[in-house]
Amino acid sequence: MDRVIVAGGGLAGVRAVEALRGKGFEGALTLVSAERHRPYDRPPLSKAVLAGDSDDTTVDTDWAALDVELLLGDRATGLTLAAAGGGGVLATTAGELPFDGLVIATGAAPVTLPGDGRQHVVRTIDDSLALRERLVEGARVVIVGAGWIGAEVATTAARKGCAVTVVEAADTPLAHALGPEVGALTAPWYAEAGVGLRTGVKVASVGDGHLLLADGGRIDADEIVVGVGVRPEVAWLEGSGLDVERGVVVDASLRAHAGGAARPDVVAVGDVAAWWSERYRRRLLVEHWDTALNAPEVAAATLLGQDAAYDAAPYFWSEQFGRMVQYAGFHAASERMVRRGDPADRGWAVAWLTGDRLDAILTVDRPRDLVQARRLIAAGTPVDPGALADPDVPVRQAARS
Ligand SMILES: Cc1cc2nc3c(=O)[nH]c(=O)nc-3n(C[C@H](O)[C@H](O)[C@H](O)COP(=O)(O)OP(=O)(O)OC[C@H]3O[C@@H](n4cnc5c(N)ncnc54)[C@H](O)[C@@H]3O)c2cc1C
Repeated sequence: MDRVIVAGGGLAGVRAVEALRGKGFEGALTLVSAERHRPYDRPPLSKAVLAGDSDDTTVDTDWAALDVELLLGDRATGLTLAAAGGGGVLATTAGELPFDGLVIATGAAPVTLPGDGRQHVVRTIDDSLALRERLVEGARVVIVGAGWIGAEVATTAARKGCAVTVVEAADTPLAHALGPEVGALTAPWYAEAGVGLRTGVKVASVGDGHLLLADGGRIDADEIVVGVGVRPEVAWLEGSGLDVERGVVVDASLRAHAGGAARPDVVAVGDVAAWWSERYRRRLLVEHWDTALNAPEVAAATLLGQDAAYDAAPYFWSEQFGRMVQYAGFHAASERMVRRGDPADRGWAVAWLTGDRLDAILTVDRPRDLVQARRLIAAGTPVDPGALADPDVPVRQAARS
């Protein structure tokens, strides 16, 4: 393999470049990315950057040593594949780029709402810096979506003295990610922070300085922020023959497929990749930092013809309303849930189990629980649910030998 292109310069893209060089790839390497910035971390965009505590989250890497051609401000617009294993040509705004190996790392883009009014999203550093200027004391800020991003933006806006209202279509915050029962446990955090929370409210469109609701109502606002989820950036792959469902379909080795047949010369990573998890026996599309950080190591190995599989238990965190919220595992098919501690207290957790197997854990201000549970989840160690429910027993001691 002489020429590899990485499409997308987020965390997954830069990690792919580092991993390829780290594994001894000496050929030509090009990174094409739509943003003009060098790859940077996004988690601070709704936290420290929005708060004004940081202006720059550029990923620290030695570009000269990596010997990469950086095409910043250019995007991939199409893909033509040669016969399986034969590489292809990437169409870009900088021209046609032939390759032997391709890493797809184009991430995801925020979903926006219908309507002509100004709506902020928080995906890029430019988005975050622009919104930051408008979060001034007394500004009426309405946030659509009580998900991870909505809660974090609400936290920061309230701290800056804005009058914040969060509007959510579901009956609780985080209903989609955690289920309504656990999501409801986070609802009191909003009132505590002086943030209005209106659940069960569907927004129809964004007008000039207001939201129109599906029931005919209207909410006026100085600033409207939309945090209703993201969509993988796959439109440019249309007509390429690659299998795309919600994201780019990849197997456990992160290898893409075309018409069901593996393409050893194309891999996908990060928010754009829908990967087959052997651990959970299903396809996962994980839009979190840890996956963008670690999956590229496997993708690079695969592209270089080595045997590798990505089989991690997903992990993410969120900082909201002065709390550190962390989650590890996957609980969609779990049999039951166990509470660890009282949600009225400062720190508590919820664990999901199937039989005596720990599937997942959510911790609030209990980072030690998270670390210990993550190990048990990764190893599949059986646990004693009774011990797990006792917040005074360390999670590791809940392991059954
Ligand atoms: C505000 C915010 C806060 C977050 N907070 C957390 C958190 O607290 N914890 C957590 O676990 N995760 C968090 N995340 C999620 C995490 O940042 C993402 O999972 C991660 O950024 C994914 O990295 P990626 O490289 O796959 O994609 P991206 O970061 O989306 O990077 C993809 C890059 O590719 C570019 N691109 C897109 N299309 C093309 C194209 N056709 N051609 C060329 N380039 C293209 C994009 O412009 C972008 O620069 C947060 C995300 C956001 C936005």
